[in-house]
Amino acid sequence: MRGALGGPRVLLRRLREVMAEPVSAQDRLDKIVVLIAANMVAEVCSVYVLRVDGTLELYATEGLNRTAVHLTVMRIDEGLVGTVAREAEPISLSNAQAHPAFSYRPETGEEIYHSFLGVPILRAGNTLGVLVVQNRAHRSYTEEEIEALQTTAMVLAEIIASGELTALAPPGAEPAARRPLHLKGLALSDGIGLGHVVLHEPRIEVTKVIADDVPGELKRLDGAVETLRTSIDIMLEDEGVARVGEHRDILETYRMFAHDRGWITRMREAIMTGLTAEGAVERVQSDTRARMLRMTDPYLRERMHDLDDLANRLLRQLTGRAGGPEQVKLPDNAIIIARNMSPAALLDYDRTRIRGLVLEEGAATSHLTIVARALNIAAVGHVENIVGLVDPGDSIIVDGVSGEAHVRPPADVEEAYVEKVRFRAKRLEQYAALRDRPTVTRDGVTIDLNLNAGLLVDLPHIAETGASGIGLFRTELQFMIASAFPRTNEQLKLYRAVLDAAGERPVVFRTLDIGGDKVLPYMRAIEEENPALGWRAIRLGLDRPGLLRSQIRALLKAAIGRELRLIFPMVSAVEEFDRARHIVERELTHLRRHGHGLPERVLVGVMLEVPALLFQLDELFERVDFASVGSNDLVQFLFAADRGNARVADRFDALSPSALRALKLIADKAEARGKAVTLCGELASRPLEALALAAIGYRKLSLSPASFGPVKAMFLDLDLSAATALVETLLSGSTELATIRPQLKMFAEKNGLPL
Ligand code: PEP
Ligand code: MG
Repeated sequence: MRGALGGPRVLLRRLREVMAEPVSAQDRLDKIVVLIAANMVAEVCSVYVLRVDGTLELYATEGLNRTAVHLTVMRIDEGLVGTVAREAEPISLSNAQAHPAFSYRPETGEEIYHSFLGVPILRAGNTLGVLVVQNRAHRSYTEEEIEALQTTAMVLAEIIASGELTALAPPGAEPAARRPLHLKGLALSDGIGLGHVVLHEPRIEVTKVIADDVPGELKRLDGAVETLRTSIDIMLEDEGVARVGEHRDILETYRMFAHDRGWITRMREAIMTGLTAEGAVERVQSDTRARMLRMTDPYLRERMHDLDDLANRLLRQLTGRAGGPEQVKLPDNAIIIARNMSPAALLDYDRTRIRGLVLEEGAATSHLTIVARALNIAAVGHVENIVGLVDPGDSIIVDGVSGEAHVRPPADVEEAYVEKVRFRAKRLEQYAALRDRPTVTRDGVTIDLNLNAGLLVDLPHIAETGASGIGLFRTELQFMIASAFPRTNEQLKLYRAVLDAAGERPVVFRTLDIGGDKVLPYMRAIEEENPALGWRAIRLGLDRPGLLRSQIRALLKAAIGRELRLIFPMVSAVEEFDRARHIVERELTHLRRHGHGLPERVLVGVMLEVPALLFQLDELFERVDFASVGSNDLVQFLFAADRGNARVADRFDALSPSALRALKLIADKAEARGKAVTLCGELASRPLEALALAAIGYRKLSLSPASFGPVKAMFLDLDLSAATALVETLLSGSTELATIRPQLKMFAEKNGLPL
């Protein structure tokens, strides 16, 4: 950088010394602005800090009137400084006063400075403030100078993010870096959790950002980039990665970015300004995030995640932690923050310490959500950029009821939530008091409430909820959380434990439902364009009968001397059911022939979750002993809307006349044929939806443990014949309603039903 005293590297070295001095935060800032101004041969250097109220306050200056410090406050939509903060991009002008955004502040005495260079102070892509240099003369700042000032801003970002400036500010005007955030998302798992942030994939803390040896750092970066490229090539050559499919696309994108000259050049330039290789990766990534966070295109947003991943891989390479993220130690009240995660990863944590889960993605019927519910962990999804907005240890509240998260909540919000938690505890006590009461509506109709389960941790819920039985035991969950295929013996042990825990109560085991979003980490993934419509569940079971046979054998053995009920998932035609039933019969014959004990009775049913079966109901009910409706899949297939895709999962309401008519058709046919039918999708777990289901004829529901209280309380107060009359009117004849939710809500309100 021409004209600069000693260049950016000398400046960074001096800044490092100032950072280490035992001085007050204000003194440190004052020294820093003097150093920057001198180094950049600028008459002015100022630091503006973004405050909680969204304004920008002058925190330190060299060159402007000192009296303006802490006095000059600007709105974010005001002036050049506001523009830099808003757009998170540098602005360099040789005649600042001529710019339409220029706003003159008499108290600063800045009218005599013509040139202006402002850069955002960024951290993980979020604006924390603005760093400005000004010169009296009309001059153009060089690319190198802009680059150098951005690097310097990183040091200021650390000071602001550390929170040490907070003491300088009156309440309500603190730096925004640590401001409370109220974030809205999607409620995934009921409950309220208060605790502290734990990042599921901890950021790699870059402790050394200022380089001692620039050529050495360049070499380190080049080496790490080379290793990164090789590792991506190796992954792409791996036979396990199919020739097409999503995983391969991601790796191809990684490869493209890893070879992107612009990316590498930007990092090299950042090192030339005096940063370490790690510091450079972080700076470039922060700038990229800042730019991408301002884009609304979902495709580009997705690329931001790819770049984040790539930058993290590079950082791990540089810091010698290439083995992947290590397991984090949890504090007592941990709130796990992640973009997304697998159900197995959630189960790897010490459950007793987790109070909540906040995700950038996630969906209401995904298996992670189902596991979170089973573990009674409050969870919220679709919280934009949450990973970038929090720091480990931050206090946070997860509201899984309303789908909100409060990061660094102010005292009054926290108190309100402590009160809410107390209130909920009281309500839970009231629900617990209902536990042994049969679920009978006010007009005398009994509704049978069963439990959805799938893990050992679910078993205590049978007693806690007072469930009449287990309406759906998802056997794949054991497979999903294991690190290798569970042996027949391990399966047998689990099934026996389930039957023991249930005692006299019936249990419906569903055979393996893998494929789709249910991925087994140890099974080679078959890449499919549409996994939900692919080779999954019973399709896989019939084509590779070994696995299904050994599971059925384990189930039959576990139920010796007792009743065994089983259902097959994703049956699309009666012929598939026949073949599956045949496997059960063969296994029974095999056991009989070898003198093994047998179950007292075996009932074989079907999951009704593929729309084609709706048109074979007569044939189906002739064959099956009972049926269970999987509304999660049925609704996804009816509307052709991926249940795991946040963008469309909630686009259509299951309380639409079309979905309800389909569900009613099943209930009517089952009744006519004298076959029991249970609804076990997530629909049954919500009081208003449960009301609708009962109104169209369902008398058996299977729900998640936390839903028992609210659903039962609703039924106890319900006049079912009135609800049935209303729903029948709404569904009969021609209707243009997209959903009957508002009408049901009104009915519930009018009748004082607790929802
Ligand atoms: C369903 O599809 O509704 C169901 C209960 O099964 P799963 O959610 O496991 O696919
Ligand atoms: Mg299903």
